[in-house]
Amino acid sequence: MCGIVGYTGRGQAAPRLLAGLSRLAYRGYDSAGLALCGEEGLFTLRAEGKLEALCNRVGDPNTLPQSVGIAHTRWATHGAPTEQNAHPHTAFAGDVAVVHNGIIENHRALRAELECRGICFSSDTDTEVVPHLLSLALAAHRDPLAAILEVTRRLEGAYALAILFRAYPHQIWAVRRQSPLAVAVGEDGCYLASDMPALAGLCSSVMFPAEGDIVCLTPTGLSLFDREGAPVTRPSLPVPATAQEVEKGEWSTFMEKELCEAPLGVARTTDALLRKDLPSLRLGAVRELCFLGCGSAWHVGVLGKYLFEEHLGLPVQVEPASEMRYRRVPLSAHALGVAISQSGETADTLAAARKLKELGLPLLGIVNVDGSALTRESDALLPTLAGPELAVATTKAYCAQVAALLVLLAKTAQAKGEEALAKEVRAALSTLPREMEETLALAPEIQAHATELAAATHAFYLGRGTDYAAVMEGALKLKEISYIHAQAYPAGELKHGTISLVEEGTPVVACLTQPRLTGKTLSGVEEVRSRGARPLLLVTGETEVSPQTGKVLRLPSSSPLTAPLLGALAMARLALDTCLTRGTDPDRPRNLAKSVTVE
Ligand code: GLU
Repeated sequence: MCGIVGYTGRGQAAPRLLAGLSRLAYRGYDSAGLALCGEEGLFTLRAEGKLEALCNRVGDPNTLPQSVGIAHTRWATHGAPTEQNAHPHTAFAGDVAVVHNGIIENHRALRAELECRGICFSSDTDTEVVPHLLSLALAAHRDPLAAILEVTRRLEGAYALAILFRAYPHQIWAVRRQSPLAVAVGEDGCYLASDMPALAGLCSSVMFPAEGDIVCLTPTGLSLFDREGAPVTRPSLPVPATAQEVEKGEWSTFMEKELCEAPLGVARTTDALLRKDLPSLRLGAVRELCFLGCGSAWHVGVLGKYLFEEHLGLPVQVEPASEMRYRRVPLSAHALGVAISQSGETADTLAAARKLKELGLPLLGIVNVDGSALTRESDALLPTLAGPELAVATTKAYCAQVAALLVLLAKTAQAKGEEALAKEVRAALSTLPREMEETLALAPEIQAHATELAAATHAFYLGRGTDYAAVMEGALKLKEISYIHAQAYPAGELKHGTISLVEEGTPVVACLTQPRLTGKTLSGVEEVRSRGARPLLLVTGETEVSPQTGKVLRLPSSSPLTAPLLGALAMARLALDTCLTRGTDPDRPRNLAKSVTVE
């Protein structure tokens, strides 16, 4: 989601900041701004909407001589996405500028207090309390570190803050709590960023400040302090090579490019993870599992529940992490927590994961971004090797997460002496990339179905068992990028209420990849068809379906273990083509952000 970039060095700040913001633009945002610090003090430029609007306001960035600055793309949480609410926010005295990722939860009380002192606010954001408080604290302490320590003690919530003080014109200060932040020394100065792509090509190693750390960047180096203000050092890590691969190349959208990369991501993930050992988790002794995730990663967990319960008889809890984090989760001491996240920075998933760790449970992370918070907090990792994912609606990372889940199933089966199952999963995984390629080759056929779907205002997606997990993902894809309302339903449940919404021409996408359940799901499809619905049936291999039941999209033959993934892949392609037919932008859907680092 929102991005932060900062630079202080020998070069000019504005061009570097704008380049950094554009590399973070894929994450989704609604306004942007920057603040520069120079001889004549602080000045900010902000604009509503796309980065181009900010670039227009800046004009030629090479004409701006300042060599210190901070910049931001905002994903509004408090206050409308307007220029006035865009970051940076400045203090009443004009001596402090701040950009912020996250939410200041006690902003109302702080604002009331500041207003009582006569301070006027110029935005509706939660963020604006921060520069005002910093300005007052700096006046009292005359020391940036002391001011930041005083103010952050009063802030509740999550934040990564980058701060400019007019009185310290060569420095950038930063502090983080629960929101991501990376700092680095490059050849021409020091950088900070909320996410790795902004640093690609600028430095060879990065540092991740720990929870509560405060950082001071100067043109020649950086210093870190812990939450008490004592100097600390943190390890320098190499910039992951994957941070570089962010070009769209020949493709017209990142989503299409990434869909086509999905088979490779699954092959890479499967190859690497099958060879990896997880001795610390003692999988043989695991008696239950708890999957944590949000959005598509939650759907992967739902799939995991069906698979682990069906094949290993292990009870599984799964729920969106945003619910799990506030619920008493009754788990035994032999439970394994599995946190699934593309970015490894999803605030709700991290919070729920910490909760499981507090219960004393081991935590396995299934994460796509090397070096992210979740990789640092997990006891063991099954990294997905999907490569950088830039489209907001996940495709290749989702597929790689499913592959990682199947690898975990195989490893758990092996550890429990269920050789036959372990072998069956490995065999299914070995042919999966080829089957995914064949599924993607159905694009022309899928396009024809998309043309019909594009005219709809709402659609139903039906499935049973693992196919229900797949249609949850399929329906989400359609909603995310085409803005058609879609609802995933367990095929047998529709008749218990929601069938009242089915009318003449309602599109119904049914996923039928499980031979054992096909007959039952088809009954559900017949029920809606006889009420006027227009079904599209996704079936695997040889499954027989009468042509009267609906249009058929025949997926490649695949093991029932892996077939739901082919369904989900076909549904992602269907959503993409529907979106393109309707003329909406699949890479930057409205209101959405790539990794949701706020609660
Ligand atoms: N909560 C802040 C706002 O709404 C920051 C949002 C962000 O992380 O972009 O302005």
